[in-house]
Amino acid sequence: MSDADTPDNWDEPQKILVILAHPDDPEFFCGGSLARWTSAGHHVSYCLLTCGDKGTRDREIAPESLCALRQDEQLAAAAVLGVHQVRFLDYPDGYLVPDLKLRRDITRIIRQEQPDVLITCDPTNLYVRDALLNHPDHRAAGQATLDAVFPAARDHLNFIELWRDESLEPHIVREVWVSLPKEPNVQLDVTEHWETKIKALFEHKSQIGEPEALAERLRARHSPDSTPENPRYVEYFKRLILG
Ligand SMILES: [Zn+2]
Repeated sequence: MSDADTPDNWDEPQKILVILAHPDDPEFFCGGSLARWTSAGHHVSYCLLTCGDKGTRDREIAPESLCALRQDEQLAAAAVLGVHQVRFLDYPDGYLVPDLKLRRDITRIIRQEQPDVLITCDPTNLYVRDALLNHPDHRAAGQATLDAVFPAARDHLNFIELWRDESLEPHIVREVWVSLPKEPNVQLDVTEHWETKIKALFEHKSQIGEPEALAERLRARHSPDSTPENPRYVEYFKRLILG
């Protein structure tokens, strides 16, 4: 596939906004793509909906301490990928539901950031790689974010208080890229950025266990058409062009 055929062959630098549930989701789901985009000169920012305050088996650590730790880890991981800005909405981890409050908060972020391209995850994906259960927060984050993109961010009478009281103009997101997709329609070659993704994941120290074991698992996840001598790595998305 030539560069001209790649789905991210944009003419101009893009504003890319990533909205996902937990610290570490961006790196695990699409860290190679995010590294590819920052190195190509695109502006990437994150909004994490929770601070991951339940992601531990450590009986000693308090949720608020874990929250602070995971936010620090996320900032360090984002820096490895060249991400420009990280925001946290601090919803409680594990209890995320796609209600109107969450949809309004995400609509506010979209209108403030005015992204060209928005990254979230697939709310319909109940199983990961036919082997694992997908986290309910991931599905809730994807559902609330897609519902905020359309129609809430687009139409000024949706959450009218955002326009009337906060002067936030409606915004049309041009493209949505849904990570962890049940039915992908694009793939990106991120071979050159796979080691950067792994390096970023190493920053999530509280989450990854033995770093070298993780690296080994990820290096083994090469695409079916590559060879052990020349491994190729891809990340999959459902790409929707809306604007
Ligand atoms: Zn997660």
